[in-house]
Amino acid sequence: MTIPLSAPDIGEQDIEAVAAVLRTPHLSLGPKLEEFEFSLANYLGVSHAIAVSSGTAGLHLCLRALEISEGDEVIVPSFTFIAVANAVRYQRATPIFVDIDLTSPNLNADLLEEAITARTKAIVAVHTFGIPAELDRILEIARRHNLFVIEDACEAIGAEYNGQKIGTFGHAAVFGFYPNKQITTGEGGAVVTNNTALAATVRQLRNQGRNGSNDWFQHSELGYNYRLSDINCALGVEQLKRLDPILVRRESIAKIYNSALAGFAAFVLPPLELPQRRISWFVYVLQLNDRMDVQCRDWIVREMKSRGIATGRYFAPIHLQPIYKSYPGRTVSLPVTESRASRSLALPFFNRIRDEEIREVADALVELIPRFTGRNP
Ligand SMILES: *Cc1c(COP(=O)(O)O)cnc(C)c1O
Repeated sequence: MTIPLSAPDIGEQDIEAVAAVLRTPHLSLGPKLEEFEFSLANYLGVSHAIAVSSGTAGLHLCLRALEISEGDEVIVPSFTFIAVANAVRYQRATPIFVDIDLTSPNLNADLLEEAITARTKAIVAVHTFGIPAELDRILEIARRHNLFVIEDACEAIGAEYNGQKIGTFGHAAVFGFYPNKQITTGEGGAVVTNNTALAATVRQLRNQGRNGSNDWFQHSELGYNYRLSDINCALGVEQLKRLDPILVRRESIAKIYNSALAGFAAFVLPPLELPQRRISWFVYVLQLNDRMDVQCRDWIVREMKSRGIATGRYFAPIHLQPIYKSYPGRTVSLPVTESRASRSLALPFFNRIRDEEIREVADALVELIPRFTGRNP
């Protein structure tokens, strides 16, 4: 593969910062953890950030700290990464899938109320592809029904809604720093909240349920090892310093794609701007028009691969995954999710992609149009 779908952006400063940690005795629970948490909280303007070993761990800790447990229901999208529903199941609670909007990849707020039951405890608002979910309505419905809102901001660091940073709206929010995200710590994630008690619980559960740092063998809760090492945190500190230019570059890549692919009826391109929102570009995903199907999309992926260009589907709906197909004992039908997922095509998208590579991808795709539509572009 000559052009990958994603690639981390690691500079000399990142490497230096990681190496510097290795020259100290503080590889875990050290000063870089504190610095990373402080920088992230400061960037977002929240009171507490707790770094954890992954975004998935962060989601699990939020649900656990909010005491979501067996018999409870949590509303989630299916058009997202499987960790969102899995974390609910780790607590033996039930994920209730709600369809997405026709015009955005996020939860359709019109469908929330009919999904709420006496067992519903929370809504996970995922900011899919870095596009802020419809927070005004989600928060209003949650308030009326006394539900928690957890923002899954793993794909959306730096995105804004009504001029306010994503991750600061719900009771808690989760970020993820896997290498395909806007910034990375290798593996890692963070929980952020303005609720001091919630933050303390998450901090305790992350570290085996320890009461504090004073007594290493005093465990008052069934906790986990969800810690993030200082090696990872050092990388996070450096990456976070570069977040603003990274987001500018990613937006400009999306713009280049959109102008190269504009005017072809075969493609529905992602909007570059949306009312009330600043997008933090996570991936560049276009849709084939609704005359195309999944076979067509998969054919394009194979053809692009044979030209050395990685493309992919984003997302494979959770409710159609083998482990969810007969869960929780009933079939779920989410027509918009299924239709969108079958026609989605993610293109190579990473900070260091060169402008000529973007054009090469776009040219290769345009060349294929007559072969899958039977018409000239
Ligand atoms: C990346 C991501 C996560 C977290 O993934 P990890 O690999 O556990 O860090 C969670 N939710 C969504 C929507 C994601 O895209």
